[in-house]
Amino acid sequence: MAATDLAATATARREALKQVLAQARACTRCPELAATRNTVVFGSGNADAELMFVGEAPGATEDERGVPFVGRAGKLLDQLLEEIDLTREAVFVANVLQCRPPGNRDPLPIEIDNCHEYLLRKVELIEPTVICTLGNFSTKLLRGDPTGITRLHGQPEVLTLGSRAVRLYPIFHPAAALYTPRMLETLREDFARLPELLALGAPPQPPQGGLDDPPPALEPDDPVPAAELDSAREVDDSSPPARAVEDDAPAPAPDQLGLF
Ligand code: URA
Repeated sequence: MAATDLAATATARREALKQVLAQARACTRCPELAATRNTVVFGSGNADAELMFVGEAPGATEDERGVPFVGRAGKLLDQLLEEIDLTREAVFVANVLQCRPPGNRDPLPIEIDNCHEYLLRKVELIEPTVICTLGNFSTKLLRGDPTGITRLHGQPEVLTLGSRAVRLYPIFHPAAALYTPRMLETLREDFARLPELLALGAPPQPPQGGLDDPPPALEPDDPVPAAELDSAREVDDSSPPARAVEDDAPAPAPDQLGLF
């Protein structure tokens, strides 16, 4: 494709992403979350990122600032990125839920279902090569399978999400690793493999239309009911909550969408 076509495509995807953001900001699919949130934490970073991270849900700091991973777990994420010569500006960071569950409770199955479409739209529009799922919730959701992170971490696989084939790479959640040195060591080792995974490039894509065509179906072929995602947590959930209250976060970013 010519450079100008590529640029036009990137611009169109970015504009479409802004429309999805506008929809998300007005979303009331989860009445409790819509009533209690301060902000919708859509995601932040590079709208053209090769690497996308998907966490669990915003915590209190994220809800205040409208940006994902801005507390202690976010600092660890920043540090791990730096160790592989990447920055937050180079990647896109999102969550399974865009709104904070009150009291940092776990996301409910219905909330995960309600928000799933937004996540798939982000994947389709950003077109990442590698999606790094952080912890159980995003791993189970995107794989459509209840197998937990302890078994899966560090093992990449090619997966079709909506209309995109991506390299899915489950790793431990940074918030869990904050409290468990051995988990941090494993997280660091898994993180160190990201550059070689990115170097593989995008997996072969399923046939699809251009931006002028109607959007493809958003649901994965064989989704597992969200209830099952939640029910198989016992093996892997010795970890602390992913969204502990974090009070020493950096200054707010000017806009949650950062670079676009
Ligand atoms: N902050 C987020 O944005 N997501 C998490 O999963 C944890 C902390």
